[in-house]
Amino acid sequence: MLRIKRLRTRLVLLLFGLLVLVLGAVFVAVYSATDSSANRQARQQLDVGSNVFARLLELRARELSSATQVLVADFGFRDAVASGDLPTIRSALINQSARIGADEALFFDLAGQVRESSRTEVGARIDISAVQPLTQDALLAVIDGRPYLLVEAVVMAPVMVGQVAMAFRLDEALALEMQKLTGLQVSFVTSLDNQVLYRISTLGDTYEPIPNESNNALTIEDESYLGLRNILLEQQGYQVSAELLSPRSEALAIFDLLKQELAIITLIALTLSSLVAMVIAGNLSRPVKQLADSARQIGLGDFSQPVSLPRDDELGLLASSIDTMRQGIAERERQIAHSAYHDPLTGLANVLKVAERLSEGVQAGRKGALIRLFLDAEAEVLTSVGQTAHSRLMVAYAGRLNTVIPTGGLLAYQPGQGFLLVLDGLDVDQAVIASDLLLTALSERMQVDEVKLTLTWLAGIVVWPEQGSDAESLLRQVGIAAADAQPGPARIAVYQAKRDEAYMRRMRLIRDIHFAPQLKELTVVYQPKLDIRTGEVRQLEALMRWTHSELGAIRPDEFIILAEQTGSIHRLTQWMLAAVVSQLGYWIEQGLEMQVAMNLSALDLDNPDFPEQVARILRAQEIPARYIAFEVTESALMNNPAASLQSLRRLRELDIELAIDDYGTGYSSLATIKSLPVQQLKIDKSFVLNLATSSDDLVIVKSTIELAHNMGLKVVAEGVEDADSLSRLQQLGCNVAQGYFISRPLAARDLEQWLQANRDTYRQRELS
Ligand code: C2E
Ligand code: MG
Ligand code: MG
Repeated sequence: MLRIKRLRTRLVLLLFGLLVLVLGAVFVAVYSATDSSANRQARQQLDVGSNVFARLLELRARELSSATQVLVADFGFRDAVASGDLPTIRSALINQSARIGADEALFFDLAGQVRESSRTEVGARIDISAVQPLTQDALLAVIDGRPYLLVEAVVMAPVMVGQVAMAFRLDEALALEMQKLTGLQVSFVTSLDNQVLYRISTLGDTYEPIPNESNNALTIEDESYLGLRNILLEQQGYQVSAELLSPRSEALAIFDLLKQELAIITLIALTLSSLVAMVIAGNLSRPVKQLADSARQIGLGDFSQPVSLPRDDELGLLASSIDTMRQGIAERERQIAHSAYHDPLTGLANVLKVAERLSEGVQAGRKGALIRLFLDAEAEVLTSVGQTAHSRLMVAYAGRLNTVIPTGGLLAYQPGQGFLLVLDGLDVDQAVIASDLLLTALSERMQVDEVKLTLTWLAGIVVWPEQGSDAESLLRQVGIAAADAQPGPARIAVYQAKRDEAYMRRMRLIRDIHFAPQLKELTVVYQPKLDIRTGEVRQLEALMRWTHSELGAIRPDEFIILAEQTGSIHRLTQWMLAAVVSQLGYWIEQGLEMQVAMNLSALDLDNPDFPEQVARILRAQEIPARYIAFEVTESALMNNPAASLQSLRRLRELDIELAIDDYGTGYSSLATIKSLPVQQLKIDKSFVLNLATSSDDLVIVKSTIELAHNMGLKVVAEGVEDADSLSRLQQLGCNVAQGYFISRPLAARDLEQWLQANRDTYRQRELS
């Protein structure tokens, strides 16, 4: 912007400057031409003037001369001169001078003295200070300090008897006549030894003679003149000069009009040229600015405006190049934008696009639903059909969904997560109905290549604005909802806010449990198992405790499940085994002989190496196998019955005692258990806790004990919280009791003390 302005200003300034220069030169040339021409004219006028002056003097001299000749030729006058008749001479002089208009008429005797004059007073003294020839006939004389033109003639009678002179004063009348004839200012100056004696001038009495040194220009009363000084006489210190001044203003006045016109022409030319310069500059800078604007638009990502300049020069070419570039960038941008917002496999939108659409929807204040449609057990499907077929399947399902989604809905695909669908304007019920229809469509048989499949699809739903106010939470929440969906009646799960908190905690625990062993956040507590018949405690159950650095104590019911889900359970079992075996080693050393039971997970039993690992660690610590026992829940066994059975057999072969834990909570019958290599049955605490009061529980426990005994199994009752329950169990013939009534799970040290303190407690009870 700034650049362009500068370019334009520069162009205008350049053109304007050039013009000013040229016009200035013309102006100066004209001005100096007129000036010198004025000078020339003035000088010419001066030359003419001085010629005229000379002619005038000559003419006057000739007049004087002939008048003088007439006088000296007059017989009467000659006679008067010869006879020395001064009065007659005088009257003749007066008459003759008056006749021809001479200012003085003089008669000289033979000695050259003035004897008579035309002056009125008789015998007037006449002082002739200097005389110098001026023309052929005339002299210039200073008489009584004033300049005169003087003409002489000899009076012969018949010999020379005297002389007559006629004088004509260089006076104001002459000056004015000269001025009239020549148009010059005329002055006569008489000086003695450079002191002005007398001056007359057409410029008035204040006239100052031209200084000797400046014979050219001078200024008088604001008028500039060119001067010329004619020295008429120079003798004995006397000087008479005629000074002519030619006013330059007159000569210059002729050129004034010309100068005015020139000034106007200059002004017009400058204005026009600036306009032209501006137009030219504009012509150049406007398209440049236009192109710059277009380029900026492109830079800002606006590719909609075509760039073109209707001209066939380089700028036009540049414009069309920029336009080609614009189209290229626009196309690439479109491609990039498309791939940024689309899934390459299915060509559907991706999760970014979904997030954008959600943000728009939420901001617009509309309601709507986000639905996730995903394959049940996708990992297994992938493993069984392979990546290629899986991809084709997804493309096929995408196509099928595209034909059934409501108009206006945005369908997206997220690899590994299934499809996401944004539907505006739906509430929960409508979203559930829509999901049901979509699941029905998805659950129909699909054929890809040769493979025909009927897969189970599930759905999670979250709706806004009730359940979420931003895209990120909605996407997270739909994931939480999806995790709740199960094949069968619960195939569509709607997000529930409470689950969100639990979910966040669960995520935290899942993340952290992996590091719990190395952070030393795990501990083991031991709960005594009382042999009801002998009143002795020879068995313990080892239970894990996790104290999270921030969340505090986490119940095993919570973290064991998470560890199982994430596979961390292997690490936990390893840690537990090591901890228990080392504790056993210590106790055996101390002479404390206890059998410690550990709980196993389904995943431990699935691991075919597990029995061998147990054997190795026992051998390494030199602990006889009879010191440990394992508790396994029915459900853990059912997870992978064949592998579990295998593991149990191996453990049993090592001479390790095995127990079925939480008996009664699963569906397995005693008949199934009979086929297992187990020695103990632990009745779940839910049947034992209220044994003292609930006759139903009593019936169940009684029959379980009888049947277990029939199968040669020892029975352990857990959850014994009061003395009544214990004595009932005793009456029912239960072998072992475990519960808070006997002791809560204790740390190893506390347990040792407890054993000390309670050595005889239950023996006495048995006696009683
Ligand atoms: P479980 O194996 O059935 O353990 C017995 C549970 O009953 C323990 O809960 C114990 O503290 C509790 N209990 C004992 N007597 C009473 C009583 O009189 N009243 C009541 N209300 N409860 C009693 P805990 O310690 O919270 O453990 C819960 C479950 O976590 C265990 O059930 C077991 O399945 C699992 N678990 C604990 N430690 C481990 C472990 O190291 N590995 C594995 N895989 N599972 C473990
Ligand atoms: Mg147990
Ligand atoms: Mg139990």
